[in-house]
Amino acid sequence: MTIKMDVILPGATLGVMGGGQLGRMFVHAAQAMGYRTAVLDADATSPAGLVSHEHIQTAYLDEAGLTRLAQVSAAITTEFENVPAQALDKLAETRPVAPAGSAVAICQDRAREKAHFVACGVDCAPHALIETPEQLAAISDDLLPGILKTARLGYDGKGQIRVKTRDELIAGWDELNRVGCVLEKMLPLAYEVSVIVARGRDGQVVHFPLQQNLHRDGILAVTTVPAPNVTEAVSQQAYASAHKIAASMNYVGVLCIEFFVLADGRIVANEMAPRPHNSGHHTIDACDVSQFELQVRAMTGLPLVEPVLHSPCLMLNLLGDLWFPGDATTQQEPDWAAVLALSGTHLHLYGKTEARKARKMGHLTVTGATPAAAREVALKAAAILGIAPF
Ligand code: ATP
Ligand code: MG
Repeated sequence: MTIKMDVILPGATLGVMGGGQLGRMFVHAAQAMGYRTAVLDADATSPAGLVSHEHIQTAYLDEAGLTRLAQVSAAITTEFENVPAQALDKLAETRPVAPAGSAVAICQDRAREKAHFVACGVDCAPHALIETPEQLAAISDDLLPGILKTARLGYDGKGQIRVKTRDELIAGWDELNRVGCVLEKMLPLAYEVSVIVARGRDGQVVHFPLQQNLHRDGILAVTTVPAPNVTEAVSQQAYASAHKIAASMNYVGVLCIEFFVLADGRIVANEMAPRPHNSGHHTIDACDVSQFELQVRAMTGLPLVEPVLHSPCLMLNLLGDLWFPGDATTQQEPDWAAVLALSGTHLHLYGKTEARKARKMGHLTVTGATPAAAREVALKAAAILGIAPF
């Protein structure tokens, strides 16, 4: 295969906007391949900043910070979808930025995101935009019960209120300070899946095998691959939709699309993330190439390959709650030694010193020879850690 002229080779520095755990795992992948890294994040103890060659400690829109990041980086990516799209546009004046600010801007706004799904011929939940009291008053009863979601800046179930009646809807919009929202009809979910694709500068798209995701309190709790409940028809439709959505944004990098599978077998797109995703963390230990490595390959112009799942697996999110067993008032370290005594367990902690409830502190991937074997060990690990059975 001939490598394109403008490929950015190992030895160069790759820049990342955002210093969270996704940035940290990206930095690990980039460094393993011989790249240097620069992370821009204001937090002196950010998970990615702690492991990067360079850590630029400024706000996302700080002129000097952005100038420095552009100066040292051969190409730049983002690990956080709420990085202001203007910051990415500014960087793109002098450096290749993947994904582009224009694609991130679509993903940052639930209304634009849903419009994009529809434009691609991909179904999403019935919904309506609420930006004014008139729009609120005009909401059709068909959308209730529903979930009121802020159009911007929501994650892990934050910025969402479940509303059964019109009165609850009115009170809910007040509670969300009357910011721009999307009201989505509550759908009868059979289960949830996600697809992670990577698209190169040349338009080639590859995808990981579909993941099945269990959420608890709006936060991802468990990912299982291969997805136990999916039919061939559902997975083919999800792959085709994800490819179409990526291509239509002229996307470069890793993109995750979350889907709901309904009780009647229909599949609807929920939301997308313009970056590696929590439901793809298992790819580090269970696939021959991880989602983070594919992000490196896509942004540098290196070849993409169709990833292969070499081991059935489950991924358990390790939330800060686990550091407070029972009703402990002081933080206690979970019994990692007991978990690591189980074969097939792969522990990832993000270097966050302060555990808080619902804070993502790390994840545990369990690989096994068969799906049943992986599940059995994952349930044992969950019992040790105080995670409810699944
Ligand atoms: P993320 O951390 O994935 O960005 P988020 O805060 O953006 O999460 P959503 O993905 O919109 O939130 O919703 C979180 C979860 O709430 C979904 O995975 C699903 O379990 C449930 N949910 C959301 N919308 C609906 C709906 N319309 N009908 C039924 N369940 C829903
Ligand atoms: Mg979600």
